[in-house]
Amino acid sequence: MDNCIFCKIVDGTIPAKKVYEDEDMIAIEDINPVAPHHLLLIPKKHVVNALDLAPEDDRLVGRVFRVAAEIARQRGVEERGFRIVQNSNADAGQSVFHIHFHLLAGRHLGWPPG
Ligand code: IMP
Repeated sequence: MDNCIFCKIVDGTIPAKKVYEDEDMIAIEDINPVAPHHLLLIPKKHVVNALDLAPEDDRLVGRVFRVAAEIARQRGVEERGFRIVQNSNADAGQSVFHIHFHLLAGRHLGWPPG
């Protein structure tokens, strides 16, 4: 999709620190980390947010969670804990309108979130 920063990261037009890639998704380091481990899991398909998911995306979303858990394991943060966050629309703080899932770990994460 034109003018979508994450589509450009997916196709390599904009550089990113990629830590994982398969046929459906990538994982990159967030450019403005808010935790010691802050990754973005980004489906390659341009989906705006959770409201834009179709039934055929169910497998993809499950895969995102499984890959996030695997990355947490690889980084040794799984026992202490980690959080997977998907922001949809303004009040949730979505700033990039290509669906992505934050993987946050490496510090105590407060609840409720701000
Ligand atoms: P949102 O607020 O849930 O939409 O999250 C967007 C995230 O994308 C923020 O945490 C930003 O720091 C991050 N971000 C924006 N542009 C880039 C980039 O070019 N590379 C990596 N992360 C980015």
